[in-house]
Amino acid sequence: MVRRIKQGDTVEVVTGDSKGMRGEVMRVLPKQNRVVVSRVNIVKKHQRPIRAGRGEVQPGIIEFEMPIHISNVMLVCSACGKPTRVGFSEESGTKVRVCKKCGKELD
Ligand SMILES: [Zn+2]
Repeated sequence: MVRRIKQGDTVEVVTGDSKGMRGEVMRVLPKQNRVVVSRVNIVKKHQRPIRAGRGEVQPGIIEFEMPIHISNVMLVCSACGKPTRVGFSEESGTKVRVCKKCGKELD
């Protein structure tokens, strides 16, 4: 199965609190149908000092991205720069992703 969204893609959030934000896909979680998008859906967590082997983790606030559902993001086409639905076309037996807006290949 060919995935619509891959690691390294730029996506735009189309719903929720982060609507309109763009970022790079850092990780795809296929089982949960979720993606982790750089600088989107940031959660802040207070970190207490932890003794871990050699060093000690400094206390402070750590920020990390929570995964968001894949249906909440749209792929941003690298050719036309617009958030788009992804189509597929088959070339010499290999499926490639195409932009539904401008028709350019995305891979
Ligand atoms: Zn396009």
